[in-house]
Amino acid sequence: MTIINDTINTIWVKVLSALESKVNKPSIYNSFFTCLRLKSLSSNTATVIAPNGFVKSLIRSNYPDAITEALEEVTETKFALELITEDEDKKLAENRESEKRKEPASSQFFQHNLLNPKYTFDNFVVGKSNEEAFQSAVFVTENPGELNPLFLYSKSGLGKTHLLHAIGNAVKAKMPAKKVLYITADDFISEYVRFTSRERADQSLKDFFKDIDWLLIDDIQFFANKQNTCQMFFNIFNIMVSNNKQIVITSDRAPKELEGLEDRLISRFSSGLTCSIKELEQDTLIEILRLKIKTNGTPLDLFEEEVLSFLARHNSHNVRELEGALNRILFFNVTSNNHGRITMDIAHAAFDGELPREKNKGQLTPEKIISTTAAYYNLAPSQITSKVRIYQITLARQIAIYLCRYLLDIPFAQIGKIFGKDHSTVMASVQKVENLLKDDSSIQKAVAQLKKQLKAG
Ligand code: ADP
Ligand code: MG
Repeated sequence: MTIINDTINTIWVKVLSALESKVNKPSIYNSFFTCLRLKSLSSNTATVIAPNGFVKSLIRSNYPDAITEALEEVTETKFALELITEDEDKKLAENRESEKRKEPASSQFFQHNLLNPKYTFDNFVVGKSNEEAFQSAVFVTENPGELNPLFLYSKSGLGKTHLLHAIGNAVKAKMPAKKVLYITADDFISEYVRFTSRERADQSLKDFFKDIDWLLIDDIQFFANKQNTCQMFFNIFNIMVSNNKQIVITSDRAPKELEGLEDRLISRFSSGLTCSIKELEQDTLIEILRLKIKTNGTPLDLFEEEVLSFLARHNSHNVRELEGALNRILFFNVTSNNHGRITMDIAHAAFDGELPREKNKGQLTPEKIISTTAAYYNLAPSQITSKVRIYQITLARQIAIYLCRYLLDIPFAQIGKIFGKDHSTVMASVQKVENLLKDDSSIQKAVAQLKKQLKAG
């Protein structure tokens, strides 16, 4: 389906008007939606352009469904949403143009697989956990073919795709004539399927790869159980390696843990250099946050230092989630018209009582305080959060509330939500325990013992 420009504009006007009532907050609609532009509607993708990275992240984190629903209402078609910035759009158009000039018509592989200029070595924060992966990526860029392949693996969101694009961008900057192909394993599989419908498919694929100097292939675990694709890839791999063409592969697990792949392929994967990225340490996460804030054009001193450690502590497993949490706070800050600094209160309010998921087992949570206090008084945790007013239960509840306030430093209103109480009841409970602590030795003993247990994890 191709829709001409006039129709696109008419559709977008209707979509915007549907969005205006869906979003139902004029300030948000006016600031973030009226500046969006529908670029195209292809068979199943709607490409929408945002004026800058900030608006793009806000919309992507908060309103993707609102847009696809509004589009569906207007067009009666389900579109996947592709959101790009004005700059990315320009860059894509330029790349497409220059690839068109350089490539013969048969080189279909380049159509969907462009290097993302956003990911470079310069904006990759290096710490102990990713140092080896970073250094080996830089090494292959400078010494192609010496460590072949470079195999990078880690859990999701730790920077593999970023490094892969950074390698490609660095090669292109240094040696513009070199042909670099970045492709995800998924796209490789579909391109392979497309090629097989041609005459002399295998030969034309091999011809295509003869021209490629650098192959950067992302998320190789998707090759599992794709025997024909693997067979073809095995051939391409061997030809490229024997011609000293560098291959870099990423995966969500180590080569020997890849399932549904032939041993000979796995052993080829391990024949160069294998590096992993471990969970990032706090310092590195905080440094990444600083970088993302600066890149967003937001002054760094808008943030209380504590907010950055709070975000890093709660999103230590995945940088993508860390970025999402940062966007959420920035978004909240804009929409709540806060003109001062971003404090811990703002951070808590941005998550509306729901802290970002607790991921470190040892970390202290309200749930842990409730269950430990319940156990101390031989109660069930549900009794602590119930409305029952027997003396022993009320006392345990007040102590748990007091501990939440003192050990977690969360706002009264948020504690109220956890315990099903209003703000003033929570304040009164904290006051009550503080008074008891002055001269009631059994309470002093209970609180001291609970603090000790909770701090020991
Ligand atoms: P993966 O491919 O391992 O799932 P990505 O490379 O897609 O992870 O990274 C997710 C996001 O986190 C990207 O926006 C990326 O730029 C960012 N990121 C990850 N590690 C770093 C780092 N060390 N420095 C800066 N940004 C990072
Ligand atoms: Mg990735």
